[in-house]
Formats: sequence, structure tokens, C-alpha cells
Amino acid sequence: MKPRGSTASADQRPRLNADWHRANRMPKNPSTAQRVAWHVAHTQACACRPIPASILAELSRHAAR
Ligand SMILES: [Zn+2]
Repeated sequence: MKPRGSTASADQRPRLNADWHRANRMPKNPSTAQRVAWHVAHTQACACRPIPASILAELSRHAAR
């Protein structure tokens, strides 16, 4: 058991799902569809980074039509 309050850094770390990342590597030269699919799956499995704006734009394009 560690005393709380001495270091704040532990609580501020991004929530990285390392197992998911090991199992789901981004391809070397991903197509747009691959990147979109990766980020959609990623955001449900892991919170280490938000979906980039370019991916969100692709998602809304697909959602619109
Ligand atoms: Zn992640």
C-alpha cells in the first residue's frame, strides 16, 4: 500500500490498454478505411489518445451518407 497524495502523477497517466495495442497493431501504410476502423475499435478498448480530427471527419462523412 502506498500513501496517497505524495505523488499526483500516477492518476494522470492516460489509460493505455497495452494488451489491446499488442493485439491490434496499425498497419504500416494503412488505408483511410483501415485507420477509421482502427480508431473506432481503439476508442472502445483504450483511452490513451482521442480520435484525431481527420478520422472524426471521415466518420461523420460515412454517417451522413
Ligand atoms: Zn490506446
